[in-house]
Amino acid sequence: MTTTDTAATTQPFQAEVSELLNLMVHSVYSETDIFLRELISNASDACDKLRYEAIARPELIGDGAPPKISIVPDKKANTLTVADTGIGMDQKELIDNLGTIARSGTKAFVARLSEAKDGAGLIGQFGVGFYSAFMVAERIVVTSRRAGSSEAWTWSSSGGSGFEVAPASEADARRVARGTEIVLHLKSDAAKYLETYEIERIVGAYSDNIQFPIELVPEEGETRQINSASALWQRPKSELKPEDYAQAYKSIANAFDEPAMTLHYRAEGRYSYAVLLFAPSTKPFDLFEPARKGKVKLYVRRVFITDDADLLPAYLRFVRGVIDSEDLPLNISREMLQNNPQLVQIRKAVTTRVITELEQLAEKEPENFDKIWDAYGAVIKEGIYEDFERREKLLALSRFTTTTGERRSLKQYVADLKPNQTEIYVLVGDSIERLKSNPRLEAARARGIEVLLLTDPVDAFWASMQLNYEGKPLKSLSQGDLNFDLIPLLDEHTKDKTEPAADEAATIALIKASLGDRVDDVKASTRLTTSASCLVAGNQGPDRALERILSQQARGARTKPILEINLRHPLVTAIAKTEAGSSKVDDLSLLLLEQAQILDGELPEDPAAFAARLNRMVLLGVGAS
Ligand code: ADP
Ligand code: MG
Repeated sequence: MTTTDTAATTQPFQAEVSELLNLMVHSVYSETDIFLRELISNASDACDKLRYEAIARPELIGDGAPPKISIVPDKKANTLTVADTGIGMDQKELIDNLGTIARSGTKAFVARLSEAKDGAGLIGQFGVGFYSAFMVAERIVVTSRRAGSSEAWTWSSSGGSGFEVAPASEADARRVARGTEIVLHLKSDAAKYLETYEIERIVGAYSDNIQFPIELVPEEGETRQINSASALWQRPKSELKPEDYAQAYKSIANAFDEPAMTLHYRAEGRYSYAVLLFAPSTKPFDLFEPARKGKVKLYVRRVFITDDADLLPAYLRFVRGVIDSEDLPLNISREMLQNNPQLVQIRKAVTTRVITELEQLAEKEPENFDKIWDAYGAVIKEGIYEDFERREKLLALSRFTTTTGERRSLKQYVADLKPNQTEIYVLVGDSIERLKSNPRLEAARARGIEVLLLTDPVDAFWASMQLNYEGKPLKSLSQGDLNFDLIPLLDEHTKDKTEPAADEAATIALIKASLGDRVDDVKASTRLTTSASCLVAGNQGPDRALERILSQQARGARTKPILEINLRHPLVTAIAKTEAGSSKVDDLSLLLLEQAQILDGELPEDPAAFAARLNRMVLLGVGAS
């Protein structure tokens, strides 16, 4: 590129931006109002940044003018201007911030947007805020001066494929003494945004809780402040109504939905701080992206410091809101925050409090808790794996789909144990439907034993940790030996009268010899009643489901499984009756192994050989061979 510092340059948008703008211009959204909220949110961020940087460099607010936001409608010019006296942007920042989308997941957003009915709900989550202004503007001119800089720059674009960046004209540079001015040349159908009552309505609905004064500069009459600019979390709970919280949630979390849980309290004592946290009711798209972080904002005495301080553990990364400390030094650097002992304490206490709140919600408002569990259960369960200290609590909080078909807690499970049942049984797999027909459930089903059916990826990890709940070990049905002998069969399953294969040991030895080193061992199964065979992991080492995940991620080789066989199954008794040395023994044994693999959703090692073997046996059976 031939950018020199003073020449005007025309630059292409990053491909994703062009795509996005295309969607914006053809207005996928019916709710165009949100552009104003996005611009105000950016202006507020810019004011926050200025206030933070000015702690170390007070000269940045040299003139003493406090950061604020102005909205100026101009019917004659058909423009709406949103200006702030925040941190501003220099030439490079204008190009980088308003020419690309740095966030990951943008492609996913664009893809989803074209199929989504409710596109507006996605904007805040994907951080494409600024570009939403192209829904209402045919041309946008941004003039900005970084705080402390001697130069101002102008960015302009009519959407399409590119934008222009040039030094600001003398008049523009004089007007924009610090911060950013965004002039929207409105489309013909967007004239309503020039009406002061429209502007007040939108600010009232979405941005009332912005910390900085938002001034409306009407064409006639006095400039007036149109938001309350108070830190809602500092106000006593008794003064606040549910609507106040819902509104605060929208402006703090930049969200459109309603909070499924609201937690507001003030901690006094060794450290004092105010906490206002929300659990959104809609699941964000990027909950499982590695880069996704928690979004709890740290304030110190009402000054925003950072939203990057890991104030809650990763398994609570869906929580949004504010923690405002009275005691931390204002000039604490973001690096120092990492190991600050006070912050470690706050994090610990707030984490515990959030979990307590979830427990109470589960008890008092189970419907709301269910919503949270639907959206974030898979994330919260990461805590069982990661948070040793709160493992018990998180296990108790968790809800599981079980073979009863209901969503159950471990407390409920333990209350309904069968006579002599001492373990909590779990089975990990890809889908509830597939798990329901899993042969490993047969013996449990014959006894009416409830089994937790686990299908989230994280389940394989914590289910392999040999955990206990109230002294009852969690036991996977695809791992190790099982003993159901003491648990009575249900009436309709009176003990199977079929004779097992005549000589158990000899039959097992035959199969073992045929399978060679394909398996670690062959055993008589205690978990099958109708199926012929299944695979299990040894008592030690990872469970089958975990091994599968790890090997898919190329993070570990697979160990050899144990093949369990049902000695009463005709296929097995057939082996016992086949004369030794016959190739049929090999075929039947391999089929026992291969069908167990298929039942696990895996391919036989050699699918072609499997097909040939199956055909041989079928032809034998129909007497065609
Ligand atoms: P987001 O706010 O989620 O980062 P936006 O598209 O709303 O995404 O804004 C993109 C970036 O442009 C912001 O992150 C910020 O760096 C910059 N920006 C936008 N508006 C302003 C402003 N008024 N003052 C300073 N920087 C701004
Ligand atoms: Mg934004």
